[in-house]
Amino acid sequence: MKDSLTKFEFTIFTMIDLRSDTVTKPSKAMLDAMMVAPVGDDVFHEDPSIIELETYGAQLFGKEAALYCPSGTMTNQIAIKVHTQPGDELLCDVNSHIYNYEGGGISFNSGVQAKLLNGHEGRLSAEMIEQNINAEFDWLTRTSLVCIENTVNRAGGSYYTSQQIEPITALCKNKNLKLHLDGARIFNALTETGESTLSVGKMVDSLSVCLSKGLGAPVGSLLIGNNDFIKKARKYRKVFGGGMRQAGFLAAAGLFALKNNVKRLHEDHQKAKTLELTLKSLPYVESVLPVYTNIVIFNLKKEMTGEKFEKILASHDIRISAFGKQTIRMVTHLDFTDAMLNQTIEILKKINQ
Ligand SMILES: *Cc1c(COP(=O)(O)O)cnc(C)c1O
Repeated sequence: MKDSLTKFEFTIFTMIDLRSDTVTKPSKAMLDAMMVAPVGDDVFHEDPSIIELETYGAQLFGKEAALYCPSGTMTNQIAIKVHTQPGDELLCDVNSHIYNYEGGGISFNSGVQAKLLNGHEGRLSAEMIEQNINAEFDWLTRTSLVCIENTVNRAGGSYYTSQQIEPITALCKNKNLKLHLDGARIFNALTETGESTLSVGKMVDSLSVCLSKGLGAPVGSLLIGNNDFIKKARKYRKVFGGGMRQAGFLAAAGLFALKNNVKRLHEDHQKAKTLELTLKSLPYVESVLPVYTNIVIFNLKKEMTGEKFEKILASHDIRISAFGKQTIRMVTHLDFTDAMLNQTIEILKKINQ
């Protein structure tokens, strides 16, 4: 018994996990906030902690309402469902999460097809979107929705500035298209641009925000929009099986995360930059994508496959994710400490010497 406990503690305290910023565990302070959260049945709209989180999130982005959901996949999928009709087409970047990592939900849940655009570092432009809006012929699919992602997960955490989104907003208004923002890591983007949450809310019809990525909550995402949109979204949340009961314990973690963990995101970006610099100097690294926020994506030289690299790091208790045969992703987060950064760099430098 004692042995297994020691092993358990060892695993928790020495494993360096760079696979994703979803791997964080709630801090003591967050757990304390969760334990004292007032709760009720949220399907009856009676959970005070969820109502507080939704109100806080909506106000933060200058929108009328918000909806607490179990995951970012669900907030995105509900948004697509509300904004479209079966047989419609949405426009998104070829690297977008909604297309690549949501299990085909665009077609499965909404009967919608996606037209994939080749954005620059995952960012779409108004020109690109305009060229891909279908005309109103009987034989063409109706284009009804544009989805953008900020930051872009698969493009090294690149981000949009307001200046880049505003023309898209204007175009969507003009062409009567809805604009949804997958803002899973919107606070990482705002950390770099210095722009306000209110400015984001003004530019989009709906946005989804993950509380369980860099913000460190164990569970949950917020879908944010106007009253009419959220009323429909609540209905679909129930249909999708996401109506939870006394989930205020979890919402309290989300609220704690929004209030306490946004201001420290720059530390994750700094650490990612340091990793970028180290990787660039290593003999077995072919290239490193520019690092903009907390995501580091790099390619290995032929001699070092992703699988081999993953194994070597695992033998040093460092976990990373192979993103392709030669491509690796590392994501920094609030449980990745300075000491862990130093240890990681030391080990990276030791490999292949
Ligand atoms: C993580 C993520 C989501 C949501 O993922 P869940 O794991 O379902 O919470 C959505 N979009 C992007 C860009 C993401 O990185």
